[in-house]
Amino acid sequence: MAKPKQNDLMDKLVSLCKRRGFVFQSSEIYGGLASCWDYGPLGVELKRNIKDFWWTGMTQKRDDIEGLDAAILMHPKVWQASGHIAGFTDPLVDCRTCKARFRADMLDEARCPKKPSRSPIENECDLTEPRMFNLMFKTFMGPVEEDSSVVYLRPETAQGIYVNFHNVLQPSRQKIPFGIAQIGKAFRNEITPGNFIFRTREFEQMEMQFFVHPSEDEEWYEYWKEQRWQFYLDLGIRKEKLRMHEHGPDELAHYAKKAIDVEYEYPFGWKELEGVHNRTDYDLAHHMEHSGKDLRYFDDQRKEKFIPYIIETSAGCDRTLLTVLVDAYREEEVKGEKRVLLSFSPKVAPIKVAVFPLVKKDGMPEIALDIYHDLKQQFKCFYDDSGAVGRRYRRQDEAGTPFCVTVDGQTKEDETVTLRNRDSMEQERVKIGELKKVVAEKVTL
Ligand code: ATP
Repeated sequence: MAKPKQNDLMDKLVSLCKRRGFVFQSSEIYGGLASCWDYGPLGVELKRNIKDFWWTGMTQKRDDIEGLDAAILMHPKVWQASGHIAGFTDPLVDCRTCKARFRADMLDEARCPKKPSRSPIENECDLTEPRMFNLMFKTFMGPVEEDSSVVYLRPETAQGIYVNFHNVLQPSRQKIPFGIAQIGKAFRNEITPGNFIFRTREFEQMEMQFFVHPSEDEEWYEYWKEQRWQFYLDLGIRKEKLRMHEHGPDELAHYAKKAIDVEYEYPFGWKELEGVHNRTDYDLAHHMEHSGKDLRYFDDQRKEKFIPYIIETSAGCDRTLLTVLVDAYREEEVKGEKRVLLSFSPKVAPIKVAVFPLVKKDGMPEIALDIYHDLKQQFKCFYDDSGAVGRRYRRQDEAGTPFCVTVDGQTKEDETVTLRNRDSMEQERVKIGELKKVVAEKVTL
């Protein structure tokens, strides 16, 4: 199947997302709010399926990971202990001419607002010296806006996991090695957000922190690297568009002993999709120091008390959704007409099955509606009886629906329907009674 040219793929995708109800600009009727996006009916299903796929793999299918949903607002001391107040900064430069702001370490990727075809370097913009800018959003707790009531919108979900280490450990009766998984919103006042939902100021993370004995950190780090790589393959992402980038000593964050990014080749270049980090005992040691609480773990086999090391897997949910969209977008020519399809893995497709009567007569709509009502007990389905069946197929192709069921003249005779495959467009006849089983095999997480 043909892929469109990379440079216009993003424009096509943004427009398809708006047209089909995947993603809209936030507050659009007021001119939009920069870098904030809303998920429409199809987008919200796709996002939920991606989260379920991650969550099921992390918690339901494993015995050694527990779930958590911590608050977005946390005690400000958390961010002191984590180093975010002092160090969660990016270098910022201003252009003295056009007043635009850029991330000093990403100048080659930035665009000068006066000449959007060129970067500020190419345009020889009059830039200030870099200064550090803290990315945390600040707000106030309670009615008085004073320094003592400052709280932060969390810039990552991870800290909610660290501070709850013992709260989760005790009731779950887990033993090290074990992990805690969390999906939730995070906020970063990014200097240069952009590329649609790739970098936004409000986003969702899917993070898992795995607590291990310090002597076993290296092997668990290797293990989680492989697991996370496999996750994207299982999600249906093409292998040739994925790569691993191991951080060199100059790239490592202050808390990390080792780090690797899972990268995807977006239309705008190879970029991080997820980070896997060996965070050592940095987090728990700092929270112990700042809270005065003992966060060590007593290992009754080893008869030893120690601060666990943490292997972190940190993925962006919105970025995964963008990856799934980019990777699935196809254009092809069928009988002289352009066909656009989103070739999602059936596991995450927003709608699993569309049901059509071939024509609106001869009892076909009644049978089709019965099938629809039955299937929708188990899968997200869509019923459509308007327009030519070919057009209905095209609409579902654009929505990424993997299966279309059509009731036709033969249905009454032998209780079969056609089951059309989105990618191959092949149709097979399936007994109505077999439909649920056939679809379930393909779409189950
Ligand atoms: P980057 O270098 O792209 O700023 P990072 O290294 O700061 O990312 P992490 O702090 O490791 O990212 O966050 C983990 C994951 O969260 C990232 O891999 C990404 O998928 C997601 N993420 C981080 N920042 C954003 C953002 N501003 N918008 C959307 N997703 C984000």
